Amino acid sequence: MIIVLRPGATKEQLEHIIRKMESLGLKTLVSRGVERTIIGVIGEEDVLRVQPLEVYPGVEKVMPVLAPYKLVSREFKPEDTVIDIKGVKIGANKLVVMAGPCSIEKYDLLLETAKKVKSAGATILRGGAFKPRTSPYSFQGLGEEGLKYLRDVADKVGMLTITELMDSRELVLVERYTDIIQIGARNMQNFNLLKEVGLSQKPVLLKRGMMSTVKELLMSAEYILSNGNFNVILCERGIRTFEDSTRFTLDVSAVPVIKQLSHLPVIVDPSHAAGKWGLVPALSLAAVAAGCDGLIVEVHPRPEEAFSDGAQSLLPEKFSEMMENIRKVAKAVGRDL
Ligand code: PEP
Ligand code: MN
Repeated sequence: MIIVLRPGATKEQLEHIIRKMESLGLKTLVSRGVERTIIGVIGEEDVLRVQPLEVYPGVEKVMPVLAPYKLVSREFKPEDTVIDIKGVKIGANKLVVMAGPCSIEKYDLLLETAKKVKSAGATILRGGAFKPRTSPYSFQGLGEEGLKYLRDVADKVGMLTITELMDSRELVLVERYTDIIQIGARNMQNFNLLKEVGLSQKPVLLKRGMMSTVKELLMSAEYILSNGNFNVILCERGIRTFEDSTRFTLDVSAVPVIKQLSHLPVIVDPSHAAGKWGLVPALSLAAVAAGCDGLIVEVHPRPEEAFSDGAQSLLPEKFSEMMENIRKVAKAVGRDL
């Protein structure tokens, strides 16, 4: 249920409605837009059937939210969400590029990569310390040591960080070192993990599961928002289809679809979709043209030596070249980089 307040509604009127909803056992979330304040009401809404909410002072209209996701929906919050992390804005006109290796490996290698991606225009350094590998015999990540490298390198070069959290037992540890928590495709429906990051103060990048629909992605995001964390970034990273010439099929249409349905920022990961570095630039340009708010790209100075995902990692020089072309496409669609 959404309660839309009149433009001139007072603070007292807002608080009165919130108190009333809470006394009925419902949870409220207030969204203050430029013109109007909206109160999202969640819980067992049946109790409202006998309560004519329209008569409350300050209320303009009351609308049911038809979609199963409430807080992530555009109905609840018509204007785009912009997440400000230490001055880097995700979801604003300027595109945000996150780049770095798949896995954090050696300190010097990470430093070299960070310097290069930063000079090409990336503002957020990516790198996994806890890796979700298909095989238990593959490299599993450096753990806390890797997190330390990531933080130290990012601080040294002046970037923010993003890294994956796989297990809520490591939440406090990961929070200590990173600016953004990544929830990987394989954990998109790990609902207990989603609830935990919903209680975190850190922004969360939620990747779409490789076999999940956009609606399921939005329902997963709803878990995070409904636990109090509104700083969620959605990420399209390719889905499984019958096509086998790419690792996954990048669902470019997910970008405008999500933009219609939700106010949350959308980032595209062309690397995991492509599986091959040669396809990454074209997919990135398509994603920007489709209206995404940024990209997360794997870059490695020596891809043949990478501990994971070398085949899809761009050399820093190729990444710089790609960024120049992204700049042009961004301009053509009214965005900056
Ligand atoms: C990654 O970002 O390295 C990763 C494992 O991504 P995904 O969860 O999309 O497979
Ligand atoms: Mn990877």
